[in-house]
Amino acid sequence: MLVAMSSDHAAGRDQNTGQAHAVLRSTADLPAPWAAICGASVGVVQGRWDGPRGTRSADPCPECTRLAAG
Ligand SMILES: [Zn+2]
Repeated sequence: MLVAMSSDHAAGRDQNTGQAHAVLRSTADLPAPWAAICGASVGVVQGRWDGPRGTRSADPCPECTRLAAG
């Protein structure tokens, strides 16, 4: 199994909850909606997961944080 670094993830946002989720870089170019690595569906992808819209946002998904750090 590949071990993904946080830099391999883009920051997605669940528009219903405002929570930030991690989206695999390899899937970020596909049309919306995207599947976050925790399984959540996100409607917006903006920037890096390890940036201000991801792990440093107000409400990062704990599951995505754990999985992306894995
Ligand atoms: Zn998540």
